[in-house]
Amino acid sequence: MRVVWVVVALLVAHLVLANRSGHAQDVWPQAAMVAVQAMAAWAAFARYRRSPALIRLPWLLLALAVFMQVLWAFTNVAALVLGDKSGYLAAMATVCSALYMIPCMFMVSRSFARNEPRVVIALDLTLSCMVAVLVYQFFTELLSGPRAADPSSIYVVIYMADAVDFSLAFMAILRLLGARSFRWRFFYFAASSYLLVNAIVATIYNRVELHGLPWWAGSLVDIPHALLVFVLVAMRQPSRQLRAYHPSLGMSQTIASFAPIILSMMVVLLGIVISRISFVSGLVVACASVLFYGLRVAFIQSRNLDQQRAVDLSALRLEQQVGRDSLTGIANRAMLDTRLRHALEEGQRTGSYCSVLMIDIDFFKQYNDSLGHIAGDVCLVKVASALSSSQLRTRDLVARYGGEEFAVVLVDTTAEAALEVARRLTTTIERLQIVHPQCALGYVTVSIGIATQTAETPTDPVILLDAADRALYRAKSRGRNCVDVAGLPESGEIIGQGSAQAAGRATP
Ligand code: GH3
Ligand code: MG
Ligand code: MG
Repeated sequence: MRVVWVVVALLVAHLVLANRSGHAQDVWPQAAMVAVQAMAAWAAFARYRRSPALIRLPWLLLALAVFMQVLWAFTNVAALVLGDKSGYLAAMATVCSALYMIPCMFMVSRSFARNEPRVVIALDLTLSCMVAVLVYQFFTELLSGPRAADPSSIYVVIYMADAVDFSLAFMAILRLLGARSFRWRFFYFAASSYLLVNAIVATIYNRVELHGLPWWAGSLVDIPHALLVFVLVAMRQPSRQLRAYHPSLGMSQTIASFAPIILSMMVVLLGIVISRISFVSGLVVACASVLFYGLRVAFIQSRNLDQQRAVDLSALRLEQQVGRDSLTGIANRAMLDTRLRHALEEGQRTGSYCSVLMIDIDFFKQYNDSLGHIAGDVCLVKVASALSSSQLRTRDLVARYGGEEFAVVLVDTTAEAALEVARRLTTTIERLQIVHPQCALGYVTVSIGIATQTAETPTDPVILLDAADRALYRAKSRGRNCVDVAGLPESGEIIGQGSAQAAGRATP
C-alpha cells in the first residue's frame, strides 16, 4: 500500500512542478512522469516474478511495454537536459513508441497455448516487429520528412495512433471476456484497463498538443500508469462481478483462436495507410501480412492433423486393448459378444450361418491343485495361443470366454465343417503334450461343444453360446477330450473323440 501513496505523492508533485514552471514539458515535471511510469513497470515486473510459469510471459510483456514508455519519457527528459540539435533523441523517442507496440501486440494476440509450434511464435514475433517498423517509418516520414509541412499529415499520424491504441485495448478487453482462468482474467483486466485508459489519454493528449500543451497536460500521461500500479498493488484481484464471470469453453476458444488475426489485420491496415506514401511498400506489406497469416494457419493445421493422427492411433490401441484378455492376449468376452452378434446378423441377412465352439480344459481344477495357479496360467496361455494359431480364417475369432473356457466363432460354417475344426483343435491341444499329472492321458486335453445358427436363431449371442455350452456339458459327461454338437438327441454318439478318453484318476 505504501507504493500507492508514493505514486499519489508523485502525481501531486508532477502537477505542482508543472504548475510552478507553467510548462508541461519541463525537466522536473517530466522527471516525475518518468518516476510514475517506472513504478508501473516495476509493479508489472513484480507480478512477473511472483506468477506461476504458465502466466509469467504475459506479465513480462506488460512490464516490457510499460518499460518502453519509461524509455520514451526518459529520452524526452534527456533531450531537455542535454539538448537535441541533431534530433537523435527525438528519433529514439519515436523508436521507443514503436517498440512499445511489440510486447503489446504479442500479449493481446498470442494464444499462449503450451504446445504451439515454435515457427508460429516466430511468425507472430515477425509480424509484431513489422508493425513496429512500419509505425516508426510512417511517423518519421510524416513528422520529419518533406510531408511534415502538410498540416493534414499530423492528423493522419494522430488517427493512426488512435487506431493502433484502441485496437490493442479492444483486443485486451476481448481476451478478458474469453479468459476462463482466474489468473488470466486478472492479467487481462490489468492489461485492458491500462491499454484502454492509455488510448483515451493519448487521444486527448495528441489533440490538446495541437494547440500547445497546457501545464497540466503532462499529468494525463501519468493516469494509465498510476492506474496500473493501483490495480496491481492495491486492488490485487478483479471485482466480484469479474470473478463470478465464467465464459463458456467454446467462447473462450473462439476468442483465443481469433486473437492472432488482429496482428495480420493491423499490418494490412498499416500497409493500406503506408500506400499513401509508397504504393509498392504498402502492397508488399499487405501481401506479406496475408502470407504470414496463411503460413500460420497452415502450420497450426498441420500440427492439428499430426495430433489427430496420434489420437486416432492411441484410440485404436486402446480399443484393441479393451477387447483383449489381459492374461492370454486373445479376444475377451466383450469382443466375443460383439463379433458373434455381427456374425449372427450377417447369417440372418445372407443365409450363410455361423457356428460357435465352446472349449473347456478338462480337469483344470486338478491341474491347478497339483501344479499351482502360476503353472495353470501358463497352461491357459499355451492353450490360447495354440487355439488362435490353429489355421483358422482371419474372419473367425478365438476368444477367452472366462476361466479355462474358450469360444471360437466360425463365420459362414456348417455344423459338419465346425465339427472338422473342433476335431482338429482337440488334436492340436493334445499334441501340445502339456503334462497333467492327474489326468489318465497324462496331458492336458479339452472338450468342445458346437452350436450352429439356423434361420430361427435369434441374433442375441447368449442363445447360441448357451446351446454350445449345453453341448459341451454333454461332451464332458461322456468322458471329456471329445466333441458334441448341439441339437443332437440326448443319447447321440460321442463325436470326434481325441486319441484317448480322459477319465482315470481325475474326478470330474
Ligand atoms: P471339467 O473337466 O469339468 O471342466 O473340470 P475343471 O476342473 O476343468 O472345471 P472346474 O470348473 O471345476 O474348475 C475350473 C478351474 O479353473 C477352477 C479355477 O481355479 C480355474 N481357473 C479359472 N480361471 C483361471 C485362471 O485365470 N488361472 C488359473 N490358473 N486357473 C483358473
Ligand atoms: Mg469350466
Ligand atoms: Mg474345465
